[in-house]
Amino acid sequence: MERTVFVNGEYLPESQATVSIFDRGFLMADAVYEVTSVLDGKLLEFAGHLKRLERSLGELQMAKPKDFDNLLEIHRELVSRNGVDQGGVYLQITRGVADRDFAFPKNVETTLVMFTQAKAILDTDAVANGIKVISIDDLRWGRRDIKTTQLLYPSMGKMMAKAAGADDAWLVEDGQVTEGTSNNAYIVKDGKIITRQLSNDILHGITRASVLRYADEAQMKVEERSFTIAEAQAADEAFITSASTFVMPVVEIDGAAIGTGTPGTVAKRLREIYIEESRKKAI
Ligand code: PMP
Repeated sequence: MERTVFVNGEYLPESQATVSIFDRGFLMADAVYEVTSVLDGKLLEFAGHLKRLERSLGELQMAKPKDFDNLLEIHRELVSRNGVDQGGVYLQITRGVADRDFAFPKNVETTLVMFTQAKAILDTDAVANGIKVISIDDLRWGRRDIKTTQLLYPSMGKMMAKAAGADDAWLVEDGQVTEGTSNNAYIVKDGKIITRQLSNDILHGITRASVLRYADEAQMKVEERSFTIAEAQAADEAFITSASTFVMPVVEIDGAAIGTGTPGTVAKRLREIYIEESRKKAI
């Protein structure tokens, strides 16, 4: 069964959807993206993703695609045409098609590509057992607050984790954890939730913003500051957040069990709250 995807204003079967070899997304990773989760056939946190997309475009002086004001409708149409109940919608905007040049081209139409991915998010083994992470040096560029498609190093990090028998990697810079390869990182100590403060060093997770707000509303203590791998290994709990994993417990870091070595109560509670609240607000 072929998916229907969206490319530059057209809904097409995936095998017929193409982008030029001169597209700057392909040649230079001159592109930004968003992933919006789908639960019960509805979109989660759409407004947050749209706002961050607009910011990413602005930071890179990239024009909005002509369909920018129709993005909600296109998301919904793709979910409906592909019958997605659980999973996500991937969206990518590139600076467009121009002969190869380091300078940004002028008066070029941006490329907009969107497709759905059906995937179980709710009851997975990872949720039940927690995931294992390793730590690696953070060798990414300095504007991690912009959601670009420069994902080669995070992808290598994921492979290093797999080679070490783990599930994911936490990135470390100047001795402090920045974030996960594709998620924000947290520890819990004496009931307090600790996660790195926002800056250009990390992606400003849409899930992070909501989870911290829900934690605050539930009278949980939150501290936004950086932490080391040693502090994380000595914590009571650890977890990650992202649009595609929601709140996911971390039970092992560099071979050391965290707390009891099983998913922690704070992570489980936050996951429940996040799913309940997101479901209510889904559109
Ligand atoms: N950090 C990085 C590096 C990511 O790639 C992601 C997921 N795209 C996140 C954090 C989490 O962001 P969000 O909650 O918006 O998915």
